[in-house]
Amino acid sequence: MARIVKKFGGTSVGDIDRIRNVAKRVAKAVEEGHEVAVVVSAMAGTTNQLVQFCREAAPMHDAREYDTVVAAGEQITAGLLAICLQEMGVPARSFLGWQLPLHTNNVHGAARIEEIETEALEACFEGGRVAVCAGFQGIADDNRIATLGRGGSDTSAVALAAALKADRCDIYTDVDGVYTTDPRIVPKARKLEKVTYEEMLEMASLGAKVLQTRSVALAMTHGVRTQVLSSFEDKPGTLVVSEDEIVEQEVVSGIAYSRGEAKVTIVGLEDRPGQVSHLFAPLAEENLNVDMIVQSASEDGASTDVTFTVPEDDLKRTVKVLEDNKETMKFRDLVYRGNVCKVSVVGVGMRSHAGVAGTMFDTLADKGINIQVISTSEIKISVIIDAEYTELAVRALHTAYGLDKVEE
Ligand code: ADP
Ligand code: ASP
Ligand code: MG
Repeated sequence: MARIVKKFGGTSVGDIDRIRNVAKRVAKAVEEGHEVAVVVSAMAGTTNQLVQFCREAAPMHDAREYDTVVAAGEQITAGLLAICLQEMGVPARSFLGWQLPLHTNNVHGAARIEEIETEALEACFEGGRVAVCAGFQGIADDNRIATLGRGGSDTSAVALAAALKADRCDIYTDVDGVYTTDPRIVPKARKLEKVTYEEMLEMASLGAKVLQTRSVALAMTHGVRTQVLSSFEDKPGTLVVSEDEIVEQEVVSGIAYSRGEAKVTIVGLEDRPGQVSHLFAPLAEENLNVDMIVQSASEDGASTDVTFTVPEDDLKRTVKVLEDNKETMKFRDLVYRGNVCKVSVVGVGMRSHAGVAGTMFDTLADKGINIQVISTSEIKISVIIDAEYTELAVRALHTAYGLDKVEE
């Protein structure tokens, strides 16, 4: 007997037939004698629609009310799955975030989990009942509903698995595992049998939305055995494991991309200690997440340029904060544009292999794709390019690093 947390994403609970299909999977695990807790997402498309409603109601809305609205999708699927399970004779009940409770901080819209009380869930296991938990939501210490950021049900599931000391966390989705890149844009993408926490963390944070970044970080910290698999087919998925479980490591294990990025350049920033800190402190105060910061060498010793990226959705707010603080920040000009894409090459093997960056730059040059910003870390290289070249770049890089599936 094992204790398992099973999470089902939006497509997997997209209509009543699919919710019944999920109920069958859960019932099977219960019949096999396992203790099962379930986490569900909202039906595919529902959260997008709820977000859109908030934007239409007021572009600069109250984040606490946004959370009240967007958390609603998971309430529906949690109740529906409990009903379908009961209909099959499996005792089950739903839990919303506040009913567990799952406590979060007060950063509405992108809250972090602080603590999960497990008594109610343990009581369900004791009584032989399946707990169906609404993912993506919790209760903040201001006593309001809080959501964990888009894709947050993955994080709910891994956090529950850690709190319950579960043997496994199964993340069921609409693909049958983690691939070398998004299989929807590269048909030649290959499924990985195993991927390390470190690589998955990079791939997720660089745009591979198959797992929310924070869910991977939590799995890594708490050693949660996490598996990504299909809710539509019965076949093994991809295991996210620690590095020592992988015998021979590929140099490059995946290509990730993130559309919807924007690039901001601060021109003529005074080149003296403290200026960069004056630039970024007000952005951090507004919870604006800045990425890929590049400062160019000062030509005249008096001024320098700083370029960084932000999510395109945050561009307007970012520009406003910068313009409002122009006096203290002391820069000459501001240049910005949306519609750029970040493409990244990821692999722990990069630590011990040279030439990975060269292959990336040659490949993009061959396709006539201009690189606008470059950043690197120990196990990844990222570039910013025009969004219109995303698919071309990802496919070319996938081939260049020998990742294409071998045709049978
Ligand atoms: P869910 O609703 O189940 O949470 P998501 O849409 O959030 O599903 O994540 C699954 C999607 O992630 C897939 O449909 C796929 O297009 C995308 N994806 C991006 N990169 C990868 C990758 N490297 N491997 C697998 N899927 C990926
Ligand atoms: N329903 C939420 C979203 O679409 C959370 C999730 O699906 O993980 O972002
Ligand atoms: Mg998801």
